[in-house]
Amino acid sequence: YRSQHQDRDNSMGLNLANDDQLRELAAAINNAGAGSWSASPLVPGANATGEKIAVTNPADRREVVGHWQAADSATVERALLNAVAAHAGWDATPAASRAAILEHAATLLEARMPAYMAMCTKEAGKTLPDGIAEVREAVDFLRYYALQAREHFAPMALPGPTGESNQLQLGGRGVFVCISPWNFPLAIFIGQIAAALAAGNTVIAKPAEQTNLIGHAAVQLLHEAGIPQDVLQYLPGDGATVGAALTRDARVAGVCFTGSTETARLINRALAGRDSGAIATLIAETGGQNAMIADSSSLPEQVVKDALGSAFTSAGQRCSAARVLLVQEDIADKVIHMLAGAMAELTVGDPGLPSTDVGPVIDEDAKGILVAHAARMKSEAKFIAEAKLGEATQHGTFFAPTAWELKSINELDREKFGPALHVVRWKADELDAVVDAINATGYGLTLGIHSRIDATIDRIVQRAKVGNIYVNRNQIGAVVGVQPFGGQGLSGTGPKAGGPHYLPRFATEKTVTINT
Ligand code: GLU
Repeated sequence: YRSQHQDRDNSMGLNLANDDQLRELAAAINNAGAGSWSASPLVPGANATGEKIAVTNPADRREVVGHWQAADSATVERALLNAVAAHAGWDATPAASRAAILEHAATLLEARMPAYMAMCTKEAGKTLPDGIAEVREAVDFLRYYALQAREHFAPMALPGPTGESNQLQLGGRGVFVCISPWNFPLAIFIGQIAAALAAGNTVIAKPAEQTNLIGHAAVQLLHEAGIPQDVLQYLPGDGATVGAALTRDARVAGVCFTGSTETARLINRALAGRDSGAIATLIAETGGQNAMIADSSSLPEQVVKDALGSAFTSAGQRCSAARVLLVQEDIADKVIHMLAGAMAELTVGDPGLPSTDVGPVIDEDAKGILVAHAARMKSEAKFIAEAKLGEATQHGTFFAPTAWELKSINELDREKFGPALHVVRWKADELDAVVDAINATGYGLTLGIHSRIDATIDRIVQRAKVGNIYVNRNQIGAVVGVQPFGGQGLSGTGPKAGGPHYLPRFATEKTVTINT
């Protein structure tokens, strides 16, 4: 094995068992100024125009948490001009200096964790543990890519004949567009930006429409840490206008995108359809149809705990979340019985309360897709259980975690991005067929395995076409620098976020040979 040792620790986060920290958090969430938050383009030389659009709390749609203004086409153009003009200077800034700014941003963010958590709860419906994990991951991405930049971007001397010196240098590609998802509005948003900036690119960042306020606060923080205003610009707007205008523009050298497979295809087509400009790079991390396989040697209690955590944490709104639990038939009745019991214990409600396990889904559209799926499952599948919705959920966009039993994984259609779990039984001689059926979905993001037989684990690991495999544990919550994250096939282009090969994909390579 090769191992990676790095002089870097991941962020510690906050301890929810500590009453003082809990009180501090509650105060921060209540006093964070929700209602007055605002976001408009951060583009030097552009004027904010356009109507102010209200942002409401997913847990209670009556609560307005802030307003945002979309970029118009003149602002998009201004941002592109600025980003092109700023590139040479930023690329010539030593990688160590770029890294130092990102590390400073990490320190600021870590010190203000409660304020950013408050935004994650109010704008994105994140529970307190999810909010902590979100801020920690953002801090970790900043420090990880800073360290990677110091290592990768130092010129590399290569061996050559006497009288010749050879050097390999990495530099930025140019203007990078970062388009991030609402489910990790701080962590993935900052992760993409940090990588692109560390590698010497100028960045135009477009957050998901649902989490513009968090995106705005994150860009302000990076500016405060020392990233110049024209090197990192914030450009909110909807994908069909702002996103499309950016991705078809010949001045864009690369796009880093996390979101749906369908949108990744649109971006790929837009980039490929340009008849001038560089052949652009696309780094896309997309959806999954993630399975957990449990064989009859596994411990039912552990399977249920880990399936529950993998399917319903973050209201199932993680691309790593388990969507289907494939259980060997000998233990299936027991697992299903225990699953129903465990689901009855889930607390669904206000994400700002420490007792809440599952918060709201992001918006009405997301809820509508889940409600329609539940209606289809009613006639096509066997109902297992539905968690109880807590009090005071009637004004939010909540969907109660639900589980159904299906005859085959082939009955699943597209990924359902929410707390919906499907259980399928399999027979002893069907293990390879089960893995082949998972592969046949075309997605390849996460896979959970529960087994105490090494040969079975090895066989599944070898056969499965997925990016992240978790054995005898849950299958979510990849840790930066520890579990590099990302899939294959319909799930993404690679490279893996938080992994050692991520940063070079944002860079160009230059070989300099000198006859000495
Ligand atoms: N990295 C996250 C995890 O492991 C998922 C990222 C995503 O949902 O896009 O849970």
